[in-house]
Amino acid sequence: MRTTPVYPGSDLDSRRDRRIYGSLSESCISRLKNAVLEAGVAFAWAAYAHLRYEPFLHSYSSFTQDFGSRRCENEEHSTPGEALFMIPDSERPDTSTREADIERLREAARHRLHARAGVPVEPIAHYRREAERPFLASERDRVTILFGGLTVKHERLIQAVFDSCGYRALALPQADLASCQIGKQYCNNGVCNPAYFTIGALLRYLQQLEASGLSRETIVDRYVFFTAGSCGPCRFGMYEAEYRLALRNAGFDGFRVLLFQQEHGVKADTGAPGLKLSLHLGLGAVNAFTFADALQAFGYETRPYELSPGLTDRRLARAIEAVAQALAGRRELVPPDGAPRWMYRLIGDKRLKPYANAYDHLYGPATKGALGACRAALDDIDVDRFRVKPVIKITGEFWAQSTEGDGNFRMFEFLEREGAHVLVEPIGGWVMYLLQYQRVRIFARRGLTLPKDASRLARLAARLREERGLWLRRLAVEVGEYLYRRQYDGVRDAIGVAHPLLDQRELARIADPFYRELARGGEGHLEVGKSIYYTTRNAAHMVLSLKPFGCMPSTQSDGVQSAVLARFKDLTFLPIETGSEGELTAHSRVQMALVEARLRAQAEFQRALASTGRPLDELRRYVDEHPELHRATYHVPHRRGVAGVAANFVLHVHDRMRRDRRWRRARVDTMAVGQGA
Ligand code: SF4
Repeated sequence: MRTTPVYPGSDLDSRRDRRIYGSLSESCISRLKNAVLEAGVAFAWAAYAHLRYEPFLHSYSSFTQDFGSRRCENEEHSTPGEALFMIPDSERPDTSTREADIERLREAARHRLHARAGVPVEPIAHYRREAERPFLASERDRVTILFGGLTVKHERLIQAVFDSCGYRALALPQADLASCQIGKQYCNNGVCNPAYFTIGALLRYLQQLEASGLSRETIVDRYVFFTAGSCGPCRFGMYEAEYRLALRNAGFDGFRVLLFQQEHGVKADTGAPGLKLSLHLGLGAVNAFTFADALQAFGYETRPYELSPGLTDRRLARAIEAVAQALAGRRELVPPDGAPRWMYRLIGDKRLKPYANAYDHLYGPATKGALGACRAALDDIDVDRFRVKPVIKITGEFWAQSTEGDGNFRMFEFLEREGAHVLVEPIGGWVMYLLQYQRVRIFARRGLTLPKDASRLARLAARLREERGLWLRRLAVEVGEYLYRRQYDGVRDAIGVAHPLLDQRELARIADPFYRELARGGEGHLEVGKSIYYTTRNAAHMVLSLKPFGCMPSTQSDGVQSAVLARFKDLTFLPIETGSEGELTAHSRVQMALVEARLRAQAEFQRALASTGRPLDELRRYVDEHPELHRATYHVPHRRGVAGVAANFVLHVHDRMRRDRRWRRARVDTMAVGQGA
């Protein structure tokens, strides 16, 4: 039988094929022959390509190997990609003509565009920060350090700390709308709102000094401004330059601005010999923040329930003054104060002094005295905790959420007028955030400084050294966080404030699916984390986020919040942008959102009351018979999942009634007498 040849010339009938393929079927033999032929063609192509392109392949491979193995003399870079950027200049391909061409084209385009716009072409003058006249230690007695940007209570206590360290310091008046207008007049366009307010407040004060008869030269000579700075990544990094520019524009050229970088923590330094950020000043500031935060929170927790309107504010002013006196009177401990002389001799002055001072600031007589003075000042405020108020948690940008002036439309005052209980964010929350960031960052940088080219043993030794350093730094952060929290809780417990500082790890964890904690700028992940936290734990009836007009990180957070809202349907979240205009609109939006928050608070209260099985009158009678329950300083435990003060109070009073045997017995006796009569 004859088959169709698969390829020209192939013939399966030949005896040779039969000998080779044996009993294989014809189609199988045909497929085999096809495969052999195709492999032969492919091999022929490969051989041709190799002979044709081999010189190029060779030069390419030597090129990549050359770059891959090259190392910069001073740096350790292991990958070819990294090494590519580390070629010594002498070995780089000559790109100068190309660069020159690009430069020429760029210049031509610049000229063309300027000519088209009718603007004369001027040589580019890059900004160089001018050397500033230093603030010398010898000037301390006659130069006043101005500062601002916090609440009145915080600033009063910080001023007391400056006093205790021997500085002349003065808090600027609170920034208002007039300050904002002045800021806009002298700052760059497009700066964010807090900069306009805070820079404007400084300029306004200096203008007032000038109006009072001081010459500009005297003002520049006798005053300096002290503020926090940062390297960014938001516009906060530009504040220092903005301060200087605005001062120059307003005619106060040469006015000194002292800065401490908030990221540097205990290592921060102003660089000015006249203002040393000593341990005494730092620990005093910690005390000032914790007391001011706790007293601030006490005010917001008490005012909505006070029985004598205005009494809380009057008593708070007294308490703040008492704490300020205690902080101002504290002096730095020097040997042999604070510890026995033999201990100083044994351990050494230098080593013991910081510990003795730290202990004195945390637990010393001045701190205890300040606590006692606070308690005494606040103890006679009576409150009615049965008033049902929606709890509104304030979040947002650092300055907008903490200022109490026009910078956030006096939002807290407005909320209280509308019958809400405001839950403000303490400055301590920010301190905790900075510590948490350091904690995460320490390990995120692990391995970056290890030598790449060293021997295995050397690398292992370097790794161990690095690990030891990382864990020591981590320990320092943990200790700092523990001490700060402990100090805050001590003051909080003493005056009966309900809310502790939030756990930053928890906030980072719940925000993580939406916002990474290493993404910095503004409040970072905090806004997202707090919204979820207060919603999922029923810790507030509404979350109100206050963010300044033009704030970049807040805009990011708002974008993320839409994803959060899609996931957490119960979230009552209202973002408000606080420009210098639009107060009416902002207030009316908040008013509308408050309706729902009030309903939530009422429903929660009714649920709590129903769970006790007692009528409200009975609970009221019990409270009237126990005057301590009327005291603002009485600590009402906060139940998890119950936000409102009234609901928590009802549950607490019910618990007390159940446990109070004497009261129950007296009640039974009274009922028996009633029935007998
Ligand atoms: S967080 Fe926003 S408002 Fe605050 S400094 Fe940065 S950009 Fe400005």
